[in-house]
Formats: sequence, structure tokens, C-alpha cells
Amino acid sequence: MQEFNWIKQYFAPLSRGEAGGLGLTDDVALITPPAGQQLVITTDTLHEGVHFLANTDPAMIARKALRVNLSDLAAKGVAPHAYLLALSLGAACDEHWIRQFTTGLAEDQALFGCHLIGGDTTRSLGPLSITITMMGFSPPNQLLLRSGATAGDVIYVSGTIGDAAIGLHQLQHTPLPTSLDRIGLEYAISRYHLPQPRVALGQALVGIATASMDVSDGLIQDLEHVCTYSGVGAEVHLSRILTLCTSPTDALRTTLVTAGDDYELLFTAPPAQASALASLSLHTGVAITPIGTITATAGVNLYDSNGDKLLLEKKGYQHV
Ligand code: ADP
Ligand code: MG
Repeated sequence: MQEFNWIKQYFAPLSRGEAGGLGLTDDVALITPPAGQQLVITTDTLHEGVHFLANTDPAMIARKALRVNLSDLAAKGVAPHAYLLALSLGAACDEHWIRQFTTGLAEDQALFGCHLIGGDTTRSLGPLSITITMMGFSPPNQLLLRSGATAGDVIYVSGTIGDAAIGLHQLQHTPLPTSLDRIGLEYAISRYHLPQPRVALGQALVGIATASMDVSDGLIQDLEHVCTYSGVGAEVHLSRILTLCTSPTDALRTTLVTAGDDYELLFTAPPAQASALASLSLHTGVAITPIGTITATAGVNLYDSNGDKLLLEKKGYQHV
């Protein structure tokens, strides 16, 4: 493998002169948080065959790997700063692949404002796997945590839910009964390949939201996490949850709200924040939909379009 040439030629330029990256020439990277701020760190791994299909455009894989991490920081209301990249390359990853992969990284670094400060490059005996560790800064006590929801808060979700599931089913030749046309299906596929981390919205939610997380493993399962860590419960109305489909059946809605890969924001806010959120939606261009209410009693209760309580067999995606 051309490990050192690749680092010099393809990875080092992505540090874009960030001093702490030491030009990707040393054993470590350095980070100095601005005075009074904390370092906020998150990491996510993507595996071929689990998070993206084999033979996906390398630039697209790179961008998805960055974006799932950006989504975690966005959910905490934190702007991205720098990241580490650990690559376990599959047998088919040659120089051409690396060139395309780093082109994708460059594109999204410019879009979202962050740079590469280090990493590791190894050859895997199995499939390709990519781990990114993303960092940002935040003043203490400003982080949007999962644990801040209180009874009476309204539950909101950004964007549309289940798009990536529709796209993935289409790619796997097991289409969902969505009645979407070609254009709608292409859009859903793009949502699977390329999540849209809500970076601007997340930062704007600081001071408004009481709790927040990004939806990656199924909306209902993720809402359960917010409730568990906040010590509260939730009432959610299935028909309030925005999807790409015009008039989905309750069965289809249920599939969409328990599927993974949305990378939308799920957050709670007091009812008095409704108008602030409406103008935030306007300014960020991202839909914000109220889907239910936080309750004092534990447990997430989901109601169908007749107002009957739904019992779900599966609430989301579990990796292990
Ligand atoms: P080590 O000998 O500790 O394994 P490496 O030779 O792997 O160090 O790394 C040399 C330099 O290149 C380090 O600064 C490291 O951070 C950087 N580097 C290696 N692989 C990557 C990568 N995939 N992305 C970014 N930086 C990398
Ligand atoms: Mg190394």
C-alpha cells in the first residue's frame, strides 16, 4: 500500500493549514478550545454492507461518514471544528478510490466548515469500514442534552421521516408501497446516500429546546431514549409525523417511523416557543413539525389515525 504517499497527497491537504493537524506529519493532533469553551466529541462508524452498499460511489461514502457525525454535533447545538478519520480499507480500495473518497471529504468540509487533523489508514481483511471522530466547541451549560425534557413540552421533529428507508428499500429491490413516482423515489434514494445534517437548525435551537437528539435508528426508539434519560414519557400521534408520502396507510407510517438513517433532529420545547420555532423553520428552510407531547408518566404511547393506541413489535434499528 502507498500509505505514506496517500497521506501526503490526499489527506494532508484536507487539514487546510489547521495548525493542530501538524500537517498530518506527527503521531498526534492538537486542539485548543477557545477560552471558556469545552471540547465536544462524537464518533460514528460506517460499515460496508450495513451503512452503505458495496460499490457505492466513494465520494458519497465519504460524505455520509462525515454527515452522520455532523448530525450528532448538530443535535447538541454545536458547530463542527475538526475530525479524525480511521480507515480500514477493503481489498478493492486503490488509489483511484482514495482520490474519489477524499474529493467527497473536501466537498463536505467546505460545505460544513471543518477540517481533517489526523487519523489512521489500515488494510482490512474484510469489508471497508470508516470511523470518523468529530469535534466542536461549546460554552459550558449550553449543550442540548437528551435528558432535558419535562412534562408539558411539545415534541418536534425536523424534515420528513422514513425517506432513507424508502430509498434503501428501492435500492434493494424490495420497494415499500409508497405510491411515490420516479422523482419521489430518486429523492428518497438520495436521502439514503446523503443525509442532511441539520447543523444550522441545531445551533439555533440552543436556548429554545429543552432536549435534543438526532434520529438515526428509528424515530420511536430514539424518542424512547429522550424519555428514559429525561425521566418522562410521551404521547405521539402517528398521523402528525411528516413523511414523503401523500396519504400513507398507518402500516406504512409505522414502518417509516421505526426505520433508520433519517438524521433529522428530534427535540422538545415548551409550548411558548412555538412562534420562535416557526420563524426558525422559515430561516433555516427546514420543516419543523410538532408530533406530540411529553407526559409525566413513563413510556412512549403512539396513537394511530383513529386515536387508538398502537403496539409496536419493532421500535427501531438495533445494531447488536
Ligand atoms: P502511526 O505510525 O502512529 O500509525 P501513521 O503513519 O498512521 O502513524 O500516521 C501518520 C500521520 O498521518 C499521522 O499524523 C496521522 O494522523 C495521519 N493519518 C494517517 N491516516 C490518516 C487518515 N486516514 N486520515 C487522516 N490522517 C491520517
Ligand atoms: Mg497509524
